[in-house]
Amino acid sequence: MSRTRLFAAVLGALAVFTLAAPPAATAAAPQALVRTIYYDPSRAAELATTVEDAVKIWNAGVTSVKLVRGTGGITITTAQNGSAPGTASCVGCTRGQIYFYRNQITSSGASSLRVVVHEFGHILSLNHPSDIGNCAKVMAGGRCQNAQPSTAELAAVQRFWTSRVAAPGPAPHEHVLLAG
Ligand SMILES: [Zn+2]
Repeated sequence: MSRTRLFAAVLGALAVFTLAAPPAATAAAPQALVRTIYYDPSRAAELATTVEDAVKIWNAGVTSVKLVRGTGGITITTAQNGSAPGTASCVGCTRGQIYFYRNQITSSGASSLRVVVHEFGHILSLNHPSDIGNCAKVMAGGRCQNAQPSTAELAAVQRFWTSRVAAPGPAPHEHVLLAG
């Protein structure tokens, strides 16, 4: 290959990257920039539509990770009675379980959509903040109706999964959230 043709080939490759990559991306392959987490709502019972609403909220708010209906990821189960309105088996993870408990959702005074958004927030990497009861944050619990994550909550999820993609390291830590 002549020097001129080589130069043209390099330029062509650069153009492909420039066109395909989002503004924040540098060298990573475009397809790898979005992490997919599959969720299976087949045991979510009457909360199945609420699950879809919660998924829409998160998917609309972040671009580095996408919740997609399917198997092999997060299973969602609705049951009558438990330790909290909901529990998530892990934080910042692609495989695990979410449970929802009807009696505790009712007694919590929170909207069911807020509870569902909250448990997905754990899966997406968020822990509880120190200001419990702050209705502006979906991770803060409280007798609240707001189900829209705060700007800071969305930014934290966005950062977490962006860094997961850019620097795949050890598996995310997993712990059981008994307190919901
Ligand atoms: Zn929680």
